Amino acid sequence: MKSISNYVNHRETLSWLSNYFQEIYGVQITIDLSTNKQTYEIKYKSNIFARVSILDKEITINDAEIIAYESNEPNLPHVNRLYCFKSSNEELASKEDDKVLNIHQDCIAFMICMLSRLEEQECDQLDVHERYISNDSWSERFNFTSIPVVDHWADYIMHALSSKINEKIEPIKKYGVHISHDVDVPFHLSGKNKVKRYFRSVLGSLYRREFHRAEQLLKSVVNKYDVFDTFDFLMNISEKVNEKSTFNFIPDNTSDRWDADYRLEDTKIRDLMKKIISRGHKIGLHCSYNCYQNDYQINLERDLLQSSCQKYGYKENVISSRMHYLRWESWGTAKKLSNSGIALDTTLGFADKIGFRSGTARPYCPLDLISKKTIKLKILPLHIMDVTLWGYMKLKKPSDMMIKSKSIIDRVKEVNGTLNILWHNSDLVEKWKKELYQEIIHYAKK
Ligand SMILES: [Zn+2]
Repeated sequence: MKSISNYVNHRETLSWLSNYFQEIYGVQITIDLSTNKQTYEIKYKSNIFARVSILDKEITINDAEIIAYESNEPNLPHVNRLYCFKSSNEELASKEDDKVLNIHQDCIAFMICMLSRLEEQECDQLDVHERYISNDSWSERFNFTSIPVVDHWADYIMHALSSKINEKIEPIKKYGVHISHDVDVPFHLSGKNKVKRYFRSVLGSLYRREFHRAEQLLKSVVNKYDVFDTFDFLMNISEKVNEKSTFNFIPDNTSDRWDADYRLEDTKIRDLMKKIISRGHKIGLHCSYNCYQNDYQINLERDLLQSSCQKYGYKENVISSRMHYLRWESWGTAKKLSNSGIALDTTLGFADKIGFRSGTARPYCPLDLISKKTIKLKILPLHIMDVTLWGYMKLKKPSDMMIKSKSIIDRVKEVNGTLNILWHNSDLVEKWKKELYQEIIHYAKK
């Protein structure tokens, strides 16, 4: 396993990070290795405003230890602690007389590792869906999944520049919300698996002692309504807060077990898409189960969805995606999506934990640390997924789910990030889930 410095200390890699700052703040800085190779020099208009000590020992992803350093920066209240590799120097930073900030911890390597997801590239412990899970991540091991650690470093560094040049520097993009819904099972009572699905849901609910859910499922057959047809409810809520929802459809089937049982040309799907389009909401690509490593299939599914959308009156190009089951291969999937004409992907979150998988709430173009090339795909990290709260995190009370969600939303607001929420149309059967969703959206838009 290569050391972290081996990956990071390259001109192209440092230049990628400089561009990252430019994209976020609209300010061109440069990050270079100093001549003695002991520090990075961060410059604005050729003047150094910060120096960063380079990791004082050769460490790999596996032996890295990460701790929090107190920031004590009164003018940056949301950044009270900064996470970085543990080093022999216990101090975070000190200032020289000429206002150059000396950062004693290698935040450059830390930011690059977090954003590029180097730890995922080197991990072979995957779950049943071949996904990287939070347990193995630095953020869970060192307890910072609920903190946008990269954004905090970026704000801290730009604050140093701000005080040096006496100019306020803020992110160009202000806080926003991206609301999306993966259409895995559009209707409970249609599709070729409807009978199996119905009995499995009822029995499953009874087994899990979810009596309210079982009651709703039974009532739906008697009263002839579909408990998964919550599209109007979802659109109403988005419209009330002046937002557009993105509905992600699965255009093809690459796994009988895990994929959807609908086709884009089904009458009910056609009518549903027409309704979404006529109300001005957006259509996104939900790549089927076995797409994430397959260029050909991604292209095919994007084309299928684009041509259906056009037929149903969609005037825009399909440019956003999310992978079904959040399957993601670090760098490979992003490159394949970018080659298919996708501009924005919204997959990158842990299935099993809400929070910040890559330490950020802001969209960014990732870096392939091997070829050292920027991937031309904007990643909008996923922060909150419905089923994560009760399914994976096993929270029991809606009030606890709300507290956890609020804490993530607050962190996104503080850094002017874009909050990315995924709520499935099929996860609103129980009244409390509808109420929780409404409460989360209202809080996010407050
Ligand atoms: Zn899905």
